[in-house]
Amino acid sequence: DRDYIGFGSLPLQYHRKSVKRGFEFTLMVVGESGLGKSTLINSLFLTDLYKNRQVPPVAERLEKTTRIEKKTLDIEEKSVRLRLNVIDTPGFGDAVNCDESWRVVVDYIDEQFRQYFMDESGLNRKNIQDNRVHCCLYAVPPWGHSLRQMDIDVMRRLHKKVNIVIVITKADTLTTSEVKRLKANIIRDVEANGIQLYKFPECDSDEDDDFKRQDEELKQSVPFAVIGSNSIFEVGGKKIRGRQYPWGIVDVENPNHSDFIKLRTMLIATHMQDLCDTTQDVHYENFRAQCISQIQH
Ligand code: GDP
Ligand code: MG
Repeated sequence: DRDYIGFGSLPLQYHRKSVKRGFEFTLMVVGESGLGKSTLINSLFLTDLYKNRQVPPVAERLEKTTRIEKKTLDIEEKSVRLRLNVIDTPGFGDAVNCDESWRVVVDYIDEQFRQYFMDESGLNRKNIQDNRVHCCLYAVPPWGHSLRQMDIDVMRRLHKKVNIVIVITKADTLTTSEVKRLKANIIRDVEANGIQLYKFPECDSDEDDDFKRQDEELKQSVPFAVIGSNSIFEVGGKKIRGRQYPWGIVDVENPNHSDFIKLRTMLIATHMQDLCDTTQDVHYENFRAQCISQIQH
């Protein structure tokens, strides 16, 4: 159904207690300007979060430093409430000094952990606001032939702190075989450089075959090649989000054209709880252990 994003199934993933309170999820997007990140976010959540954005001229952008921009979206579907925080990083990679870019991102992630750690040790532990970053969508351009050194460097700074999910944006500019080759090259570079991407959990053996097949397909699709659009077209009486070309319209939700739906399903319908759990059990635990050992020395 085109009017649903798909988080109506969240209660199946979560405990009853949190259903009443509503869910909180923080998604960060990282990558250079112009890769289609904001458009992708709008497409994923059926909104227009960035319509008032003024794009600064290039000269200004070059001097600009990376900023952190947080937008919050309260959405409700089938009486399930989700508070979605989107952390955008405009200016990322635009500065002459790339070191600065990853530092801003890393500092932000650490600061949220630190805040959570303080809150958790404080008196008001029952109502902690969880602003920790649960997932980082890392945008890779479609025109390269793999990861660039900068991508590798940034991901190595991030992978122990956050769940990284790589997306190849603007996949409509690539043929099917180009997508396949780019994905294979990226996976090769990820492995060769010891980068730990978000690891999809093993499928329970008691799941039905349909579920297992879907799960396997999802894992095989990494890194997701996606298309985004802010334009809605009417085709055959149905409204679709798409991109127009002289030869026709590409429907971003068409699974033959991109992994957009897989990404959305993964983020929202099937793996949101696991992304939160991994943040808590792995990344936050790492941070906590470091804090505690620093206090003791
Ligand atoms: P951001 O700077 O990474 O947030 O990029 P934007 O979302 O602002 O998009 C930059 C430009 O790329 C805009 O002109 C978009 O219309 C275009 N764009 C966004 N997504 C796609 C896509 O999937 N395919 C193509 N061909 N262009 C896209
Ligand atoms: Mg943007």
